[in-house]
Amino acid sequence: MIDSHCHLADKAFDADRMQAIARAKNAGVSAMVTIADTLREGEKCLELSAKYDDLYCTIGVHPHHAKEWVEGDIETLRTMLGSSPKVKAVGEIGLDYHYPSASSGQARAEQKEVFRAQLLLAKELGLPAVVHCREAIADVRMIIEEVDAGPFVLHCCTEKWDDVEWILDRGSLLSFTGIATFQNSVEVQETLRNCPLESMMIETDAPYLAPIPHRGKRCEPAYVMDTARFVAAEKGLSLQQFDQVTTKTTVAFFGL
Ligand SMILES: [Zn+2]
Ligand SMILES: [Zn+2]
Repeated sequence: MIDSHCHLADKAFDADRMQAIARAKNAGVSAMVTIADTLREGEKCLELSAKYDDLYCTIGVHPHHAKEWVEGDIETLRTMLGSSPKVKAVGEIGLDYHYPSASSGQARAEQKEVFRAQLLLAKELGLPAVVHCREAIADVRMIIEEVDAGPFVLHCCTEKWDDVEWILDRGSLLSFTGIATFQNSVEVQETLRNCPLESMMIETDAPYLAPIPHRGKRCEPAYVMDTARFVAAEKGLSLQQFDQVTTKTTVAFFGL
């Protein structure tokens, strides 16, 4: 199994990063993709991926940090993306309208501009994109269609099936976190039942969103097995069958 999205550079792992990576390996996680939220975190992701064989990374600026974006950042990002073969995608990038700070027209315009610029860079460099979306699916779709983006994954998919079917029509992917295992996640569970197995990846988004039975604790990559077990059962598959297909999809998407 591959954890296609975790934040191992996060300070939540400062005390036991090496042990968390070892626990993932012992649990059957063959590779991990550590995701950056900012360019500074991208530096840490680069260091980490250089240190561990089966650790890859992505670099990008998350919508929560769109207001810190300055003009020169696109060139810095371009340099960082080309600095190591361990960098496999641009991300995470996207739109997040959940918090009141993102309710103004100006805040949304900033997020859109930063998202658009990074999507265009991904397309130019031939890299896939890791897209974050919260309460903003219509605008995410609008921008992706406007720039005719290349391959991407909608990570931590919590959307209704009708709102994400277009993503599969573009040949892109959905990725599911521990949220899928929560009892009240009825819509997500319907989406993952509808999503063809070949179009999905699995992730922890650690240190956030620990799946059942770890809900409420700090999440770590080893727990991707719990989410995988749940999703496999929802799809009527054994863990081995599910692992085989999603691993193949993840390797192909990121070029691992
Ligand atoms: Zn995210
Ligand atoms: Zn994330």
